[in-house]
Amino acid sequence: MEVTTRHFRQSSARACRDVNLRAVLDHTTRYFQSKRQASLETFEGRDAHFARARAARLNALSRLPELLEQLEANAIAAGTIVHWAADAAEARAIIVGIAKAASARVIVKGKSMVTEEVALNPALEETGAEVWETDLGEFIVQLAGEPPSHIIAPAVHKSRQDVVELFAEKLNLHGESIPELTLLARRALREKFLSADMGVTGANMAVAETGSVILVENEGNIRMSTTCPRVHVALMSLEKVVATMEDAADLLRVLPRSATGQRMSSYVSVLTGPRGEGETDGAREMHLVILDNGRSEVLADPVLREALACFRCGACLNVCPVYQTIGGHAYGWIYSGPIGTLLSSLLLPRSETRDLPFGCTLCGACKRTCPLSIDHPKLMLALRERTAGGGGNPIGAAHALLARHPLAYRMAVGAARAVDPRLDLLARLPGLPGLSRFVDSRRPPELKTPFTARRRKKTQKERS
Ligand code: SF4
Repeated sequence: MEVTTRHFRQSSARACRDVNLRAVLDHTTRYFQSKRQASLETFEGRDAHFARARAARLNALSRLPELLEQLEANAIAAGTIVHWAADAAEARAIIVGIAKAASARVIVKGKSMVTEEVALNPALEETGAEVWETDLGEFIVQLAGEPPSHIIAPAVHKSRQDVVELFAEKLNLHGESIPELTLLARRALREKFLSADMGVTGANMAVAETGSVILVENEGNIRMSTTCPRVHVALMSLEKVVATMEDAADLLRVLPRSATGQRMSSYVSVLTGPRGEGETDGAREMHLVILDNGRSEVLADPVLREALACFRCGACLNVCPVYQTIGGHAYGWIYSGPIGTLLSSLLLPRSETRDLPFGCTLCGACKRTCPLSIDHPKLMLALRERTAGGGGNPIGAAHALLARHPLAYRMAVGAARAVDPRLDLLARLPGLPGLSRFVDSRRPPELKTPFTARRRKKTQKERS
């Protein structure tokens, strides 16, 4: 069954029952947390670096139109061809057009959530081209025909045994250990890099003052995707721009530590235009596609725009008790966990995502962990309020009213206890859909003898 954000209630309930998934998630999220923790313990001046990174992101958001124009001008000056895409369809059309113009038969891709957001692969495949994900995790989920389940670790939900079976079934490649499987994937992909006509990546950030695109990775596949093929296309969501190279450096000090617990990622590529005269590597043609897809509207919102500060380190997913329990796929779109809930709710129609912000426990672990101090709980509450039409929660309001009048409260509970101890009948009354949803999702215990009465009885018994 196809899972979308509309199915969040059902898919999350189903994921809760998947004990294998829970075990894999438990292991991997703990692993990421411990790596991050260890790296932050030795990060001198950590809080000051975090504050600088947040300032860089907020500064960029506050000057976004001006910085994007500067980025465009400097990128063009460096020889990059810049395109603007208002939405996913336009982004697909632009990149498909570039692929056709390049007669691309083999296309290699670096891991990029924004290319998943616009559903680029099927559109490129329709041109008859082979499209290969080259990040190991993305390669695995591509073979499995699944979307990624984590912002930085797409195959986090797969066990080693899952990958052993997948490689055997889809590639007729046989390995057992993780190094063996990695080597098999590396060999299979090496051929693709060498025969690729076009490489497609995202962009971790783009620098307005130089027109550069910055890409961060650990496997070297992005370096290969941007240098082996003749044409490189970087798809960037518009909020990823930063003002200066110094701002980029501030972010690069924090991003890998928060994402994978590394002081620096193994490869950081700074691409300023295509291969220049006399240079020996790099794509001969470089395109930068700047995608809006609803972000301008989010930017205009004084509260919710903070979500656009995110640089996708993934740390908030690893500490989220909901993500740790249900994993990424249950969220129904490519973005998952706390930041995914916010992004999906902001970028997709509200009618599609009504339940997502209500899946959050508001525990605040995400906010405490986020190196950019994004206040996820505040944003979740703002989304909930908007979803409820600003009228608050009528069930909560009715309960609060009764709670302020003890006699009325006791009478209401007494009546419910006598005739409808599980509130089933009340919840089915027409005009009370909110109560029905409340009862269905929480399965309240049967209203039995009041606690105070039980306590009184126990005390009397102890005294006698
Ligand atoms: S919200 Fe913060 S912790 Fe979560 S992915 Fe974005 S930057 Fe990282």
